[in-house]
Amino acid sequence: MFDHNLNRLATVQMPELSTLVGHPYMAVDRPCLYNLLLSMLPLDCILFNKRITNVNEYIGGVSVSCGTEKDVYHGDILVGADGIHSAVRQILFKRLEELQKLPEEDTETFSRGYITVLGTTRPLNPEKFKNLTDSYSDFSQVYGSKCPYTWSTLNVRGSRVCWSIHSQVDASASENQMFRRTSWDSQDSHDVLKACVNFKTVYGCTLGELFKETPVDGISMVFLEEKLFKTWHFGRIGLLGDACHKMLPSSGQGAVNAFHDAIVLANLVYEYQPTTAEGITTMFEKYKTERFERIQKQYAVTHFQAMVQYGQMVLSLAQRTIPRLTLLIFFHDCCLGFKMPDASLYAYKAPPKMGPDTLDLEDVYI
Ligand SMILES: Cc1cc2nc3c(=O)[nH]c(=O)nc-3n(C[C@H](O)[C@H](O)[C@H](O)COP(=O)(O)OP(=O)(O)OC[C@H]3O[C@@H](n4cnc5c(N)ncnc54)[C@H](O)[C@@H]3O)c2cc1C
Repeated sequence: MFDHNLNRLATVQMPELSTLVGHPYMAVDRPCLYNLLLSMLPLDCILFNKRITNVNEYIGGVSVSCGTEKDVYHGDILVGADGIHSAVRQILFKRLEELQKLPEEDTETFSRGYITVLGTTRPLNPEKFKNLTDSYSDFSQVYGSKCPYTWSTLNVRGSRVCWSIHSQVDASASENQMFRRTSWDSQDSHDVLKACVNFKTVYGCTLGELFKETPVDGISMVFLEEKLFKTWHFGRIGLLGDACHKMLPSSGQGAVNAFHDAIVLANLVYEYQPTTAEGITTMFEKYKTERFERIQKQYAVTHFQAMVQYGQMVLSLAQRTIPRLTLLIFFHDCCLGFKMPDASLYAYKAPPKMGPDTLDLEDVYI
């Protein structure tokens, strides 16, 4: 963690965290993770280019429609792992609203307090850019002063750098902006990039030099949204990941927890193998009981961390100048939010015998 002029505020050795979280920290860019996961599955168990447009629960089963009447798939249960704007959740919640069974909180919209612009560079020349020859990944966060930005960098395999710039936005303004548009255009991100070109990074270059090395179509601007839904299941339909708990990326825990949800739910399916409506409800209840409290804690931690890391509040401004406070806050969060009571809980009880036994981790930095 650094101040605006790249003076070090604090350092945290991630390997120490593995004793807290139960597994080593690994850094991998999104396309690489996608390919790793895909390599574990036989392709005939996945249908690509399908968009769920309707869900129908009936006695003895549930079906999803993907656009046309003929494109319908049936099963015992349906798990909506379809992200923050989950179609499965929206259809389920509409039905629950009609039945007057949806809690008031679940009718409220996402809160949007921050904006992030992010990208990943092409492979960089290690002779021109510093710290790229390390055999580990170095996550750096720089707290800007006299500007509303915090910027992060992380090197991944192939001498590439993932960078992101965060800033707090006025909640009501963000509501209005969201209302008016569904996506950002390049001018919006251009304005942020322009304001940040001269900011320093640990690679001995400015952010501007990293922007130049980033393919334009690989630059995105997103609202950072958060929401913890109370309803995770009803009948034969369940939700997991961002579909039921959208966290801010400040602790890097969103995808991690989506994986944990999936493991816990898969274990319960394996254990109970329910087919009756009652059995399915019991299984989903156990799933939520096992996961909800943990998610609730982590949600609070990520909210707090975002406020400190990306925000412009008193605490955020204080930690930009008091190094020990930064470290204290970080470890407070780690102990509170990451610690697993029993790491082995999150292992598959019956490992799926599908793809190769182990992942090819050549592309992953630890
Ligand atoms: C800037 C940023 C940085 C982040 N950094 C980290 C990090 O370092 N570590 C971490 O753990 N998490 C991080 N996260 C969070 C992480 O990306 C999410 O928590 C994670 O991707 C959630 O996974 P998911 O499977 O629930 O949803 P998603 O990844 O959103 O996947 C949902 C899938 O459903 C599909 N889908 C959507 N609608 C339909 C439909 N109607 N029919 C069929 N399919 C549909 C989508 O195409 C998509 O493939 C970050 C998030 C952001 C925004």
